[in-house]
Amino acid sequence: MMVRVRRDQYTYRFAPDVPPVARVRPGDTVVFETHDASTGRIRVADDVHAYMRVRDPRRVNPAAGPVWVEGARPGDELVVTIEAIRLAEQGYVRATPGGLLAGLAGPVAAIVPVEDGATLALPGGLRLPARPMVGVIGTAPAGGEVLTAVPGPQGSNLDCNLVRAGARVHLPVHVEGALLALGDVHASMGDAEVSGTVVEINAEVTARVDLLPGAAHARLWIEVDGLVAATASAPTLEAAVSLATDGLMTLLVERLGVTRTEAFMLVSAYGDVRIGQACDPGGLDATVYACFPLGDR
Ligand code: CA
Ligand code: CA
Repeated sequence: MMVRVRRDQYTYRFAPDVPPVARVRPGDTVVFETHDASTGRIRVADDVHAYMRVRDPRRVNPAAGPVWVEGARPGDELVVTIEAIRLAEQGYVRATPGGLLAGLAGPVAAIVPVEDGATLALPGGLRLPARPMVGVIGTAPAGGEVLTAVPGPQGSNLDCNLVRAGARVHLPVHVEGALLALGDVHASMGDAEVSGTVVEINAEVTARVDLLPGAAHARLWIEVDGLVAATASAPTLEAAVSLATDGLMTLLVERLGVTRTEAFMLVSAYGDVRIGQACDPGGLDATVYACFPLGDR
């Protein structure tokens, strides 16, 4: 069955009390119509001034959903296969003083047209290939809430460049129905997202939803193009690197039957530890992912 989540069906919170907008069964395909990070408030570059005056950190990165998955129970693992990401005709990138770098002019935004659905017309007259990815994807935590502005162990604002077409995203289920939502699509994102926004854009994300009973890991992990990757978020980059390394070691122990010490050596020898987002040191938790080329193993 194919289910569509409309652009006006979104949430700013992952939480057990957010009512689902659709119900699907494992094996179903969902088309998520996603808003950009500003919920459509930046259409032309000058809109950034009005947007920054009303911007509420509790209301950014709208995520389409949540979707109730029939049969999903706490302890299960939800597998979301990203089949396609179709970009709108334009996105924007924004720079705001503060955060990682002080002393810049701003706020300022640039509109980034997407030519033929595949080429980005960037500031400075540069034309580079689009690299569509999903910035926010998650399930509900067992209690409380995780805002779509922040990362958590069950996903949300991870800004991991591996969440692209072809990726199998493994999410822990903490509540009945899982309550899956996704959004914050980027037409391209540099690792670390240094300005706090990248090419933010409306999109349609087509994803297949499957369920692995009783298979949950502590944190979201990903398989894509022969890579296996563990994600992590923490108040400091160092703590996030440690968590992501530990998560990848767990995956290698499971898949290869090696000891944890052997897995540590493997990660050191051939794993890449990459920054998802580190745009607001001391404010927003940093996100890191550690990936390893396992191939078909
Ligand atoms: Ca983001
Ligand atoms: Ca974003």
